[in-house]
Amino acid sequence: MRKIEHIGIAVKDIDQSNELFSSLFGKEHYKIEDVESEGVKTSFFKCGPNKIELLQATDKESPIAKFIEKKGEGIHHIAFAVNDIETEIERLTKEGFEMIHKEPKKGADNKMIAFLHPKSTNGVLVELCQEIEK
Ligand code: ZN
Repeated sequence: MRKIEHIGIAVKDIDQSNELFSSLFGKEHYKIEDVESEGVKTSFFKCGPNKIELLQATDKESPIAKFIEKKGEGIHHIAFAVNDIETEIERLTKEGFEMIHKEPKKGADNKMIAFLHPKSTNGVLVELCQEIEK
């Protein structure tokens, strides 16, 4: 794994949270994107070299809706950048980690992504992501 790519925060109302986080960082989000396959609306902020992703559920079955129901708003996942997501999934599976996604899927912000199950990572939901080459 190369570095932390972004930190994902689950929010109830992304418009309100966009205002809140733009006051916090002193600048606006640079992108809003719907990820229909995950039932979420996302927005992205840059804070120096780091990125923060806000996620709001767009339907009740979305993992974000379930997360907020159980735990309330807050840090949802940490995403790590990898060079080759398929090799990394294979490596982690061999190491005994449980993958939620055994195959990479298309995520927000031009990335192929895969999540690890938090029960194999001390309760932390970990996302792998690889930039899609244009
Ligand atoms: Zn993410």
